[in-house]
Amino acid sequence: MRLKPLSHLICLVLLAPGALAPAQAPPQQAPPAPSRADILRGEYSSWRANNDLLSYDLDIRVDPEKKFISGKNTIRFKMLKDDTRIQLDLFANLNVDKILLGPTELKYTRELGAVFVDFPAPLKKNSIQSIEFHYSGSPRETGRFGGFSFRKDPAGRHWITTACQGVGASVWWPNKDQQQDEVENMRLHVAIPSALTDVSNGRLVGKTDLGDGYTRYDWAISYPTNNYCVSLNIGHYEHFSDKLGDLTMDFYCLPENLEKARRQFAQAKPMIGAFQKYFGEYPFKRDGYKLIEVPYSGMEHQSAVTYGNHFANGYLERDWTGVGVSLKFDFIIIHESAHEWFGNSVTGSDISDMWIQEGWATYAECVYVEAMFGKEDALKYVNGYKSKVRNSQPIITTRGANQTPSQDQYFKGALFLNTLRSVIDNDARWRQLLRAYYDRFKYRNILTEDVVAFFNQRTGKNLTPIFDQYLRRAAIPALELRFQESDGSVSYRWKADIKDFAMPVKVGRRADWRLIQPTTEWKTLKTEVKKEDFEVATDLYYVDVIKN
Ligand SMILES: [Zn+2]
Repeated sequence: MRLKPLSHLICLVLLAPGALAPAQAPPQQAPPAPSRADILRGEYSSWRANNDLLSYDLDIRVDPEKKFISGKNTIRFKMLKDDTRIQLDLFANLNVDKILLGPTELKYTRELGAVFVDFPAPLKKNSIQSIEFHYSGSPRETGRFGGFSFRKDPAGRHWITTACQGVGASVWWPNKDQQQDEVENMRLHVAIPSALTDVSNGRLVGKTDLGDGYTRYDWAISYPTNNYCVSLNIGHYEHFSDKLGDLTMDFYCLPENLEKARRQFAQAKPMIGAFQKYFGEYPFKRDGYKLIEVPYSGMEHQSAVTYGNHFANGYLERDWTGVGVSLKFDFIIIHESAHEWFGNSVTGSDISDMWIQEGWATYAECVYVEAMFGKEDALKYVNGYKSKVRNSQPIITTRGANQTPSQDQYFKGALFLNTLRSVIDNDARWRQLLRAYYDRFKYRNILTEDVVAFFNQRTGKNLTPIFDQYLRRAAIPALELRFQESDGSVSYRWKADIKDFAMPVKVGRRADWRLIQPTTEWKTLKTEVKKEDFEVATDLYYVDVIKN
């Protein structure tokens, strides 16, 4: 395993389900020092910050026999200051053929995955520029699902897919490979052997027989998009469709799986209905919703969610949270589609704050479970995630250093949001906050500070110490209890890393919880409940309990 074991994580699925040890905290590990490659990828350098992306027009040809791609990306951007250089990214194993500004061939310098493009004269602030970046080569298949893979389907036909979250979209096409800046829209032209079909993001706006055995598929993405969501899915696909109101829903699978797909993909419609009810309208309606079979587990490619969960409920045919709820639904359909709201519409603008994608999408699974199967199941489901949490390092990593957070960002992220709900302690209010949160940040790229400010402002409370303890520290808070049974009282305080940590919690008897307001200072409560019967609502609040 590499120093950063999750850097190739595609969504959720690097580790086999249940592969994580139970929640015993190993010693806190110091984050690895970022390499030069990580700095080049992760830092929002001055040569990135000096421009604002407007659009990409990616035009490529894919040769499955030679496992070779070639093409160009026309990158439009607005300069935010006068400057002579910008930074783009393309993996070092791919060739830069030429970079053009109009007819002028531009000079460039490559360092690892970065391509520094130099202009002969300063580009002026506020000017709109367009360059053509021509490239070619054999893209790398990397990670368990990832990068660019030339595979065959079980019948031996070509099946070519891309999945590059973490690795970076620059594994197969040149772009400004970071999360802070997104294009407003994008065109994607994919030329492939005519027997194959390409399903990509957005709307299919054209299909042209090129006369040389190749056909070009033209896709138009009419919303901002993360680079890592741009995707090719090239295979012998069957297609069927449905509608939810005026939202088009298109489904693609291998011909052999058509019946299974019709049955399993039926879950998409009520799922989108539930998310629309709880969070707001499906974010990419103009582009429609698509669900596409692929050879890896799945990925939240915007408006073109990919699916490889064996047409079975659970996650890879297992009870994912181990409490009997996961087998009621298809984990990949729900989790990856939840990312349309949390990940693709609301995006963390640095990989350090990726819980904004993964913690929220994992919590959205719980919202789905509550909508479909009730609150009791939802509570069981979220608490099932405890066995996967390690609490060995903070969820939020160093900014600008390409440090993918640990898997705690998923499970602890969801458990934290469930805790926050209990802090709010009003279901109707919580649902309003979920909707308002999504509405406030949809189509935006944000950091944790924005999330904290939102909840502080909307609740009128100072929740910063709670966010800090759960997200910026490894350990969860522990409620320390000291029983003085002789006088029928219990003293309590939070043991936490954040000095002014304060959080309400319910204690006593399950049938009749008492809400207390512990801080890090001792307080005392009169209680008739004996030490051995005294409970803490650890299903509502993700906390440890120390009984003395
Ligand atoms: Zn995910």
